[in-house]
Amino acid sequence: MVNIISREANNLAPPRSVQRVSLSHWQGITLHHTAGPANQSLRQIQQAAFSQGLVDTHYSFFIRDGVHMGRGLYARPAGDRVNVNVQVCFPGNWSNSLPPSRDLDTLVELIGWLDSEIGRSVSDTIVGHRDVPGNATACPGDRLARWMRDELPGRLAAGAGGVHTVAPGDTLSAIARQHGTSVGELVELNGIADPDLIHPGQELRLPGSSSGGSSGGGGGSSDSGGGGSSGSNQPGTRMLRLTSPMMRGPDVEFVQRWIGPRHAGAADGIFGPRTRDGVRWYQRMRGITVDGIVGPQTWSQMGVTWRG
Ligand SMILES: [Zn+2]
Repeated sequence: MVNIISREANNLAPPRSVQRVSLSHWQGITLHHTAGPANQSLRQIQQAAFSQGLVDTHYSFFIRDGVHMGRGLYARPAGDRVNVNVQVCFPGNWSNSLPPSRDLDTLVELIGWLDSEIGRSVSDTIVGHRDVPGNATACPGDRLARWMRDELPGRLAAGAGGVHTVAPGDTLSAIARQHGTSVGELVELNGIADPDLIHPGQELRLPGSSSGGSSGGGGGSSDSGGGGSSGSNQPGTRMLRLTSPMMRGPDVEFVQRWIGPRHAGAADGIFGPRTRDGVRWYQRMRGITVDGIVGPQTWSQMGVTWRG
């Protein structure tokens, strides 16, 4: 369980612009330091970004005595139109010393949470800012970069999510139920080719905590009710749900791309059972009504204004 401290609590100004992205945007994680004083306020870090002409802080999250919300997971890193890595920043200068161990522990937890929230092992690709081609920078600092290289992999293998050793008679569905995850999650996380073929003694990685305290949702009206009406089938012009025959259109494809192939299936523009399940997964992750129907509330979560 990662509790994320809000932007408001840190007095961050609203972003001057938000380029929304979906969870399927993210491929990896990049670590940063600020090279400034360790006690610099997040507000000051944001102000420095503003004065460089950025629309917000560049960073998705900050770690200092807990996890703090920066851009979060539904906005592109500020000042970078192509970046597909979640940007995690340790305020301070970590060239000669390490952040406090509780903050390093928090990073390990955050990484587990990111894998779980994004639904993919973004933790397979963790780099320092300096490792990104074309960047001549010392960031995230020599000492922190060394820790990343030498110690972080072991910390992650020990697992935020833990490991289940398969017992005789275990099935993936039973293991999934036992750990509050899904067969799909286990298959993905462990690269299992055939879900019927697991063997006793096999060690399965488990997803990290599946509940997080980011932003999101809560309450609000249900999406259900009303009907799928006409329109140009552009995103936000009609409700999408599983019907027979199945609904088709660019709006369906948008939803599939937003949620990602892992949960919603291929982006074929046809609203089938897999897409419905993906919508349910997304609604659960966002803390809104879980009904598998894309209506005003779910469209709005995807950055689309309801025009139905
Ligand atoms: Zn950096």
